[in-house]
Amino acid sequence: MPELPEVETTRCGLAPHLEGATITGVVIRNPRLRWPIPENLPELLNGLSIRSLKRRAKYLLLDCKSGTLILHLGMSGSLRILPLATAPELHDHFDLLLDNGKLVRLRDPRRFGAVLWHEGDAHAHPLLARLGPEPLCDEYGENAFDARYLYQAARGRNVAIKQFIMDNHVVVGVGNIYASEALFRAGIRPQLAAGKLSRERCARLVEAIRATLTEAIEKGGSTLRNFVDSDGKPGYFQQHYRVYGRGGEPCRACGTPIKQLRQGQRSSFYCPKCQR
Ligand SMILES: [Zn+2]
Repeated sequence: MPELPEVETTRCGLAPHLEGATITGVVIRNPRLRWPIPENLPELLNGLSIRSLKRRAKYLLLDCKSGTLILHLGMSGSLRILPLATAPELHDHFDLLLDNGKLVRLRDPRRFGAVLWHEGDAHAHPLLARLGPEPLCDEYGENAFDARYLYQAARGRNVAIKQFIMDNHVVVGVGNIYASEALFRAGIRPQLAAGKLSRERCARLVEAIRATLTEAIEKGGSTLRNFVDSDGKPGYFQQHYRVYGRGGEPCRACGTPIKQLRQGQRSSFYCPKCQR
């Protein structure tokens, strides 16, 4: 599943091809995504010029001045830039044709992705309006997600810290993999009650979340070509995880076998010695 680093890498890869281009056509091959692709999208988008491609949580926001095309990759989606004449393959459900000889293509085998249109400020869209702060800087360079914020938000909360940081109302974009990785870096057990964290440990966790995501985005830069190649498979990052997916294997820091547990239907991984 694409997590925030993949979405941000996709944004960086696509933005130079999109910003300043004019939309000359829209192809909807299969509108049945998580929500139906609006039927009138071709009329709405034809002739519009693209001002910017931004990101909020895992939503990509294509700002076309009169409105915003909201894109989400769901469980299995990928977006690529291709020459206009490229023939579609199975699962290529949606194309945006551009005046620069290129197209943007959405491939989504499981069809949990989304292509939606919103007139006016996209941040007011029901999907975006109630989201928590960005874990890194937001588009205005603000950093609302800090130790003080996390500490305050966690007061009186009995939910496990891992589920707490994966809650989009608390902070966006911390998926299952990066939650496990960040908690390992911060030395915090995933099952600890959120409200039990001291200010100091909140500070460590905020730093760990930022560092984990930033590192993944930087590594993603080396796979950027996957998003702009005509024949490259749009694979997600293969990374060298510290704990994620390593149940029973030795901790990279101390050698203790990594433990695995289920939390809210998701697998968590932690080192019983390094994480308290
Ligand atoms: Zn360890």
